Amino acid sequence: AKPLLPESGRPGGLAKVRHIIAVSSCKGGVGKSTVSVNLAYTLAQMGAKVGIFDADVYGPSLPLMVDPEVKVLEMDPATKAIYPTTYEGVKVVSFGYAGQGSAIMRGPMVSGLIQQMLTTADWGELDYLVVDFPPGTGDIQLTLCQTVAFSAAVIVTTPQKMAFIDVAKGIRMFARLVVPCVAVVENMSYFDGEDGKRYFPFGQGSGERIQRDFGLPNLIRFPIVPDLSAAGDGGRPLVVAEPASPTAATFMDLGAAV
Ligand code: ADP
Repeated sequence: AKPLLPESGRPGGLAKVRHIIAVSSCKGGVGKSTVSVNLAYTLAQMGAKVGIFDADVYGPSLPLMVDPEVKVLEMDPATKAIYPTTYEGVKVVSFGYAGQGSAIMRGPMVSGLIQQMLTTADWGELDYLVVDFPPGTGDIQLTLCQTVAFSAAVIVTTPQKMAFIDVAKGIRMFARLVVPCVAVVENMSYFDGEDGKRYFPFGQGSGERIQRDFGLPNLIRFPIVPDLSAAGDGGRPLVVAEPASPTAATFMDLGAAV
C-alpha cells in the first residue's frame, strides 16, 4: 500500500496513521469481519502497530470477535476524543463498545456517526488502521471513502455470492476513488474432507475470473475452517489462538499483499 503522510491533511486522530486499509464486501455474512480482524492481528504479528475500526454500525461484530478487558470506550469530555480500547496490543473501536448495540438509523445519520467516530478517535501512531466496512457500495461506504484517503482495499466474497456484477461494483467504487484493490479474498472457498478429497460446495472458478478481468494482484482463498468460526465467536481471533495453523499462514499472505 502507498504510505500516506500526515501532510495529506488527514483529520485529527488519524494524523499519525500511515496506512488505512478498507475491508469491504458486497453482501453480509461472507466473512468480512473475520478477515478484517485476523488481518489486523496478522499485521501486528508481523511487527506493525495496528488499529481496527469496526464501521459496521448496523451489525458491529468486533465486540464478539475481540474480547478486551475494557469493553467501553472512554471519551475526553473536553476534546470529545474517543480512546480506543486495546486487545493483544491492537487498538479497537466499534459502535458495539460504545454501548449502543446495532443502530437503527437512516443513512445520513450513520454516515455522520461513522465519520465522527473514525476521525475523533485518538489512534495515536499506527502503521495500519484496518477499517471493517459495512457491506455494500452505497452512500455510507462512499462517505467513508471521502472522509479519509484509504491506501488500499481488500474485497471479501464467497464463491456463491461472488455475483460478478456486485464485486465489480465494489472494485469500481474504489477505483473511482483512486483506492487500489490489492486483493480479493474468496472465503469459504472449499473444504478438505476426511477422505482426503477437496470439496467445492459453492462452485469453482469465480475468483480467478474476477482476478483476471480486473487485473487484481492477489487472490487469497480461505477454506471453510470450523476453528476460524469458533475462534471468532470466542473473542480470540484464530491467528492469535493458533498462530502456527495453515489458516494463519494464509493470513500472512494477505498481510504481505496489503
Ligand atoms: P460478515 O462480516 O461478512 O458479515 P462474518 O465475518 O461475521 O461475516 O462471518 C459470518 C460467519 O461465518 C461467522 O460466524 C464467522 O465465524 C463464519 N466464518 C467466516 N469465515 C469462515 C470460514 N472461512 N470458515 C468457517 N466459518 C467462517
